[in-house]
Amino acid sequence: MTPSERYPNSLPLALSNDLLSPSQADSARHDGAGRAASKPHLLFLFSDTGGGHRAAAEAIIEALRLEFGEAMTTEMVDFFKAYAPGPLRCMPEWYPHMVKIPWLWGLGFHLSNGRRRVRAILGLFWPFVARAARRLVRSHPAELIVTVHPFATTVILNALGPQRPPFVTVVTDMVTAHAFWFDQRADTTIVATPTARDYALANGLDPERVVVVGQPVAARYCAPPGDKRALRARLGWPQDAFIAVLVGGGEGMGPLDRVAYAVDESGLNLTLVIVAGRNERLKAELEARAWRIPTFIYGFTREMPDFMRAADVLITKAGPGTIAEALNAGVPLILYAHLPGQEDGNVTFVVGEGVGVWAPKPHMVVQTLACWIADEAERRRYVENARRVARPDAARVIARLLAAHLEPIPVPAARPGQDQPSPVSAPG
Ligand code: UDP
Repeated sequence: MTPSERYPNSLPLALSNDLLSPSQADSARHDGAGRAASKPHLLFLFSDTGGGHRAAAEAIIEALRLEFGEAMTTEMVDFFKAYAPGPLRCMPEWYPHMVKIPWLWGLGFHLSNGRRRVRAILGLFWPFVARAARRLVRSHPAELIVTVHPFATTVILNALGPQRPPFVTVVTDMVTAHAFWFDQRADTTIVATPTARDYALANGLDPERVVVVGQPVAARYCAPPGDKRALRARLGWPQDAFIAVLVGGGEGMGPLDRVAYAVDESGLNLTLVIVAGRNERLKAELEARAWRIPTFIYGFTREMPDFMRAADVLITKAGPGTIAEALNAGVPLILYAHLPGQEDGNVTFVVGEGVGVWAPKPHMVVQTLACWIADEAERRRYVENARRVARPDAARVIARLLAAHLEPIPVPAARPGQDQPSPVSAPG
């Protein structure tokens, strides 16, 4: 069944073609029908404002492949970069600068957070973004649309109109989820924690359509505890050292440099691995320093799963993606910063679950490191809590929830040595 048969008045085919040239209209029509005739197509909307939205989308797409093989096709679109009008297109480049003044960011978060406020803001913006949003949905016909970014929920639902394919929101803010995420029209809204669900309900969502699953994390983070020695040998890290990995999200955010220098000056017996992410200036600055302790400095790396599994502790800002990955890798956390607003609840979660400590001053980071170096049993308590709290199945459970929106529901792929896939535990 083609999209036009399933959604007789749906976009892109039912959209008035006034915004399209005849050739564009033809190609949209042809692509949509051709693709749907073979396999269902899933569109993921994300943006590189931070590293977490991309990481979540990639983890879910990977899980879809693990669960359903080649039964469907997927596509990721950075809607800011590819479609936003005018200066909004630069949002991914602006984001690291915008969060450099955390209190101002926090003020913006709180002032804009609320159902009526969000409605008013989006109402103001709609005339400027409507054309681009309609162009996006017209250019990417899909049997299921998934957003992993708060700014795509209402805008894209508006652009789609009432006759549309199923629409799912996967909230990637672990605990404190802004009202931008929530729209009553979404068929399913997937959240990571019961507190995030409370926010969804407070924003008027139907309880039946909100599911608590967990933060989707790539399978590479969820492997059973590996051979640390082999990992360290491959990475060129020392075998017997206490190793702390320091990271500030995909953009190397927060006072990462001050934390690193405090650790360097502490005289503690450890090796420090610093991941500066996409922050080139920070990386250059760190490389120019004469370090007293053994130090490894990286820019953006795809090796975070192995870094986490080879580490004894992860020092990080309170990014939801990084926290969830650390839990799955069984590494305790020291949170040195958080973004006021959307990361507030992450700190409460980490401390409350006993999987890490909140150390907002560099000397507090040093104190915690000293404690865990001296008392391995204490550090192990955090490791055990991390393993208890981790939700390694989250991406796969989300994959199954997404597949349930397709018609027909795809059959799970058989795995080698198995007639049926092993059951995935129920969301908790
Ligand atoms: N990350 C990565 N390589 C790096 C630095 C970070 O792959 O060099 C990943 C990290 O593992 C996580 C994401 O970027 O998946 C950061 O997401 P998070 O939600 O923690 O923070 P954000 O950057 O979105 O604020």
